[in-house]
This record gives sequence, structure tokens and C-alpha cells, in this order.
Amino acid sequence: MLVAHRQLLLFVLLLVATAAGAAEYLSVEVRRGDGVYSLLRRYELVDYACNITEFRRLNYLNPNSKLLVGRQYRLPIEVLPYDGESIRSSTRDQNWDRAVAIKAYNTRMLELGLRSRDYREDGLLYVPYHIDHCSTIGEVSPATVADEERPTFEVPEQNTTVAPRTFNIFGPAYAEVPLIDRTLAGRIFYIVSGHGGPDPGAVGRRGGHMLAEDEYAYDVALRLCRNILEHGGTPYMIVRDENDGIRDEKYLTPDRDETVWGGASLPRNQKLRLFQRSDIINALYEENLAKGLTDQTMIAIHIDSRHRGQQLDVFLYYPEGDLVSQKRADRILEMLKEKYDEYRPGRGYAGTVSHRDLHMLRETKPSAVYLELANIANTSDQVRIVSAANRQLLADWLLLGLYD
Ligand SMILES: [Zn+2]
Repeated sequence: MLVAHRQLLLFVLLLVATAAGAAEYLSVEVRRGDGVYSLLRRYELVDYACNITEFRRLNYLNPNSKLLVGRQYRLPIEVLPYDGESIRSSTRDQNWDRAVAIKAYNTRMLELGLRSRDYREDGLLYVPYHIDHCSTIGEVSPATVADEERPTFEVPEQNTTVAPRTFNIFGPAYAEVPLIDRTLAGRIFYIVSGHGGPDPGAVGRRGGHMLAEDEYAYDVALRLCRNILEHGGTPYMIVRDENDGIRDEKYLTPDRDETVWGGASLPRNQKLRLFQRSDIINALYEENLAKGLTDQTMIAIHIDSRHRGQQLDVFLYYPEGDLVSQKRADRILEMLKEKYDEYRPGRGYAGTVSHRDLHMLRETKPSAVYLELANIANTSDQVRIVSAANRQLLADWLLLGLYD
């Protein structure tokens, strides 16, 4: 029993603070095959519709978002300190029935093995969202386990329903891209992953594997492109690799067969290689501008190398004197900091925004942000990029930074 609990604890239980610092939610890692319903059913939350809505809100999910294995999700269960006296005083609410319902829920979680200790022992009280927010405060019934399986995700409401579109660049597993909403409609993004072709960029080593910057930057860039598409924006994947889709492996095999938008291969000469991509972006920029599309942004993604011992948060650069780009870079850093604080409370996230004279910032016409996401030579920084779940998180957080 003890062993079972320990295993459970390994993949459950990470308490995460919200940006506001107020509520803490129970955070869990999703198992293979889990959907929103099966996950919430396990915690006996699925019978209350408000829990499902709240779960989506807490995790920025839309009705047709899938859950990704290995990623942490916040459950609509607030975790409060138990004061050793009573549930009523701990939750600052004198309602007796409410306290009884909370107690029943905590007992049930213990019975189900979803927590290893009683709240009176570990001092952590679980308060499920439905207790205060659903129309019926009911006894939490264990009957839900036997419910017939409901679909993992629902079809979005009426006029937002659009058949998934297929983009082979994302690879077979991710080629179909649903349209979740149109919050980025009319906005153009040129996503450029650094290096590629004959140039692997910075190189790191981990457990006998070679980590090539261009492959990891490419994977984050692809995921960001896909996120933008999900919200109706128009991303251009400038550096391309037709046989590497989004990859969920830890170690991304370095290759040299990248091409650029339009199909040309990458020249060996660095100057030519940079002009090749800035010329493509500028041509597309003019084309889109002629159609009246003025909201155009270039995002260059790098994972660079510094001294091995140096852990690096993110560096963002914009072209000097470009206030629009500067504002965008500030916004991206703000979101990264906010999200990082949620996932790794207490660690803090340092990053800087500054202007810099780099080819991709100087020679491209759209507003531009150049990112260095990590130090590929640093062991703890590597964790941020070798985990596919973390690469997805980076892309998700970058997406949030594209909104004002
Ligand atoms: Zn680089």
C-alpha cells in the first residue's frame, strides 16, 4: 500500500500557485488515454458541469482541446491549509453542511488513494470547486465510476464548428488542426527557427546524445505555429523540414535537410542563409500588406549556448527604436514569467528584453522579436527543452504572449 502511494505521489501532487498568489490548486500529470472527463471522473468531479468549465478555464483549454500525456493540469480543487481546528475555521465559512461535504470529499480522496494522508495529518484540505460554485451542493457520490464513457472532448458550439484543417508539416499525429476560435484572425506571424540545414546552431550534450539547437528551436516553432492556427491566425513556418513533424521524443535527431518557405535548400554561407530568410519574409510582408494586412510580426526562436555552468532564463531582443516590437517582447516576457511562476513557484524567472543589432531584426520589415529560450549547454536548462511537454508549454506560453 505504501509503495502504491509513493508511486502515486510521483505523478500526482504538485501544488501550484496562481499568478494572483491567492488560490492554490491541486495539479496532476495526465496519464496516457486520459481525457477531460476521465481525469475529472477519477477525482469525482465530473458530475458537476461547473467543474468541467472551471477545469478548462484554469488550464486555458477550449472545448476541443486534448489533454497531453505528461503535462501538468490544474484540477478545480483548491488546496487550503488545515488549521488543526476545524474545516469551518480553516475555510473561514461557518456553514455546517458545506464543511461536512468538504470532509466527505477529503475522506473519499483518501479512500481512492488519490491522496496519501488525511488532511488532519498533512494539513492540506481539498476544497473542490463545485462545493461553492455549482447549483447543487450534494454529497459526492462514488457512483460516477460506473458511468458510461463520455467523449473525451466535445464539439465546439454552433458557428465555431469548423472541420479540422490538415497541415502535413506538423507530421501525421498533429497534422489535423482544429479551429478553436478566431482570436488571432487577421494577424500574420512569421515564425523562424534559428539555424538549420548545414548549421546546427549551438550544440549541447546530454546522456550521450547530441542536442542541436536548430532541431529544438524547430520543434518549439512548429508547436507555436500550430497554436496560432488553432486560434485563426496566419503563421508562416519559414524554415521547414518536410519529414520532421512535431516530435514528442526527448532526443531530436539532428539532420541537415531543412528547406525554407518556397522549397529552396539552405546555403552554406551564413550571410546568404540569413538574407535568404529575411528576403522571403519581406516578400510575404509586402504581399500581405497589399491585401491590407498590417498586423505582421516575426518571431525568431533560438536556444543558444553560453558557459556550461550558466543557467539562462530567456533573452528577448527587438530592433532598436521599434516600439511595437519592444512592446511585444515585453508582453512575451511578462507571460513567460507569470506562467513560470505558476509552474515553479518560488524559483523565480529571470529574463531580459533589450534591443540588439541582429540581422533578423534589422533586415526584416514586420515587427520582430528574437528569443533565446535556454542555454543548451546547461544541464538544468536542458530539461526545459528535452521534454516534449515542456516544449509544448513554451509554445503555449509564447502564444499567450502574442495577445495584448
Ligand atoms: Zn541560435
